[in-house]
Amino acid sequence: MATQYPFADLKAKYNEFELFKKKLPQVAVAMPEFFRVLEISFKSIEQKNAFNQPQGIYQSTGFDTAVKMLLIAMINDQIIGINSDTVEFIHAMRTLTLKWYSFGNELNACVYFGHYFYSLHSQSLHLIKDQLNNIRFLIDETNQLSKDVATLELIKPPSSNAWYINDDVIGDKLLPIVVSKRDVTKVDLPIPGYQFSFNASKIYDLRTPVFLHAHCVERPQVNNGKAIVSCPSCSQKCRVPVFHTVEVKCPNCKQVWQQRI
Ligand SMILES: [Zn+2]
Repeated sequence: MATQYPFADLKAKYNEFELFKKKLPQVAVAMPEFFRVLEISFKSIEQKNAFNQPQGIYQSTGFDTAVKMLLIAMINDQIIGINSDTVEFIHAMRTLTLKWYSFGNELNACVYFGHYFYSLHSQSLHLIKDQLNNIRFLIDETNQLSKDVATLELIKPPSSNAWYINDDVIGDKLLPIVVSKRDVTKVDLPIPGYQFSFNASKIYDLRTPVFLHAHCVERPQVNNGKAIVSCPSCSQKCRVPVFHTVEVKCPNCKQVWQQRI
């Protein structure tokens, strides 16, 4: 049976593809080639696995060039600045990849994206850093970021910044994303946070960031059969019963969310 990926059912809204081509014209031109090389890389890994060479024939696929063209397009379409953090670039690429998939494009491209950007995290960070250095001289550093509402909606991240963690899972309070802790590594350096590798399950969830800052993740404080959790909107501390999953409504701002304890 084929692996069921948690983002697999994602479908674009009506007319969203037309909007994408209009608002992000250069990205829309770069994405087909990016997906093509992701798919070739996926196939090469499958084939090489059969011959016991798990790295695949990565170099010969034009992967680096496709990444470079996409980075240039992202900057020219004003969705990210050249001086942004490397991880921010990977976040934006992940959002675009999911969006492109939702237009009916190949799932295997997303699986390779997951393999490369989550599992081979330091390798992928290097590639992005290198390519950004290669294109720096081409880019106008004063380029402004888009403030267009429709554009911002198109590139809105598929996860929030309000997460919880317990003994088994780490999850998004505002979106139905839950990841086993076996797929996550806690890191202290260079920045404290959580590194999503999906090394245990290999079920890459592209809705999940590759890295989450520690301050975005809350562990509920459990005491006398009650847990204290913070509202993802206004930070109000809320006292809830200790169940496997709780639905909470903030008494202060009425925000509703679900989380595990
Ligand atoms: Zn609140």
